[in-house]
Amino acid sequence: MLKLEKIDKRYADHHALKDINVTFKPNETTVIVGPSGSGKSTLLRSLNLLEQADSGLYTIDERTIDFSQPITTETLLWTRRKTGMVFQQPRMFDHLTVLKNIIEAPIQVRKQKKSDAIKHALVLLDEVGLNDTANRYPYQLSGGQTQRVAIARALAMDPEYLLLDEPTSALDPELEAQVLHILNNFAKAGQTMIIVTHNMDFARAAADRMIFLEDGSIQFDGSPEDFFDHPTERIEHFLNAYK
Ligand code: ATP
Ligand code: MG
Repeated sequence: MLKLEKIDKRYADHHALKDINVTFKPNETTVIVGPSGSGKSTLLRSLNLLEQADSGLYTIDERTIDFSQPITTETLLWTRRKTGMVFQQPRMFDHLTVLKNIIEAPIQVRKQKKSDAIKHALVLLDEVGLNDTANRYPYQLSGGQTQRVAIARALAMDPEYLLLDEPTSALDPELEAQVLHILNNFAKAGQTMIIVTHNMDFARAAADRMIFLEDGSIQFDGSPEDFFDHPTERIEHFLNAYK
């Protein structure tokens, strides 16, 4: 369980997160939506401490971080292990093959045996439909393939919570569909995911829960049925922009 309580975050003159209270449960897929600048990335990045809130509490399973206190490096690394992140534009090690890109962190950070890391990586590559790319270099991949490798790479660390920030917004519609299909499979298999996306079809198909952020505040937190079928006036207006 990831639980944020009374989270506040300011950047210089901008109040990016305002009194955020939210809990993410294991095995659920939560989709976060909202207008540009509403704080979606800030919220997601706060979950793996790429951003640190100014105040509030953050509970990750059995551990609670109080943002009014300094965070130890040990807690930071522990939190990052629990929460894998996939970015909009993933960065690969260009001089390493796909396989080596995936096994790097499990071997270096998790101290996995190389043979075990390779075995796991090959299973993951198969799951993302890319078992023929293990020995390719990143420049030999399409955008959609790169994003699928990034998903495999994040999952190679066995994160309990997978965080994805607009993982398909740099892709054309066909590649986007491929990647979203794979994410939907992981969601169905019970992988806990928190995903920021503008793809409302995916949200409707995959979300167990929807969160709508506006101006740094959570304006909706509930079921996809309520979100899409019984929207508030504001949400209806937001959704109309996607039609
Ligand atoms: P988008 O849909 O465009 O990705 P978002 O909902 O992810 O938007 P955030 O990136 O979380 O929004 O940004 C929230 C607000 O905080 C924005 O007004 C943004 O300009 C501001 N902001 C984000 N990062 C910084 C930063 N490092 N320094 C100053 N302001 C920032
Ligand atoms: Mg963003």
